[in-house]
Amino acid sequence: AIQIRDLHKSFGSNRVLTGIDFHVDHGEVVCVIGPSGSGKSTLLRCVNRLEEPDSGQIVVEGIDICDPETDLDAVRSRIGMVFQQFNLFPHMNVLRNLTVAQQKVKGRSKKEATEIARANLDKVGLGGRENVYPAHLSGGQQQRVAIARALSMDPDMMLFDEPTSALDPELVGDVLEVMKTLASEGMTMMVVTHEMGFAREVGDKLVFMDGGVIVEEGDPREVLSNPQHERTQAFLSKVL
Ligand code: ATP
Ligand code: MG
Repeated sequence: AIQIRDLHKSFGSNRVLTGIDFHVDHGEVVCVIGPSGSGKSTLLRCVNRLEEPDSGQIVVEGIDICDPETDLDAVRSRIGMVFQQFNLFPHMNVLRNLTVAQQKVKGRSKKEATEIARANLDKVGLGGRENVYPAHLSGGQQQRVAIARALSMDPDMMLFDEPTSALDPELVGDVLEVMKTLASEGMTMMVVTHEMGFAREVGDKLVFMDGGVIVEEGDPREVLSNPQHERTQAFLSKVL
């Protein structure tokens, strides 16, 4: 679970997050939407401390991640993150992409890491592709490898930052399907996305951000079909 209280973050004079409060419960899927520059990625990056918040509190699985005493590596190893641009290691084959952090961070043997990697590749529909290099996979396959890599670390939760935005339209479905399966298995997920169908179908909660604050949040079906705030209405009228 994730609890965020009065989170603020600026870059110089650019006040990007100006008082964010919300929570993601265990097993919940929270989708985050909003215009470009509204702070969605910054919010996600604060959750695993890729960005350092200026003030406020973020508690992940009971651990205050802004506390200087907190072991950030330990927290990060429990939070899987998937980015728009896949971020696979280009000089490693698929299997190595999935085993390297398991061995280095989790201290697993090569044999154990390989078994876990294979199970996760099967799960994302890429069993048998372990010797291939990322450049020889489609974007959708690369993104599924990235998801399998994150899962191989046994995360308590997964953060997705527009995981399908860089994909050709025909490749989006396979990636969303994997995410849907994860959700149905009870994974706690925070998903920044433009896929309103996914948000409606899979999301337990939908958060609309604009100008560094949460303007509106609620049941995805409610928010999408009956937005309460003018800014939400204006945004949805452009994207739906
Ligand atoms: P998009 O939909 O385009 O991905 P976003 O909602 O994810 O947008 P952010 O990437 O969080 O928005 O950016 C919010 C603001 O913070 C933008 O004005 C951006 O220029 C600024 N910003 C983000 N990261 C940095 C950084 N590392 N240094 C300086 N400014 C940044
Ligand atoms: Mg972003």
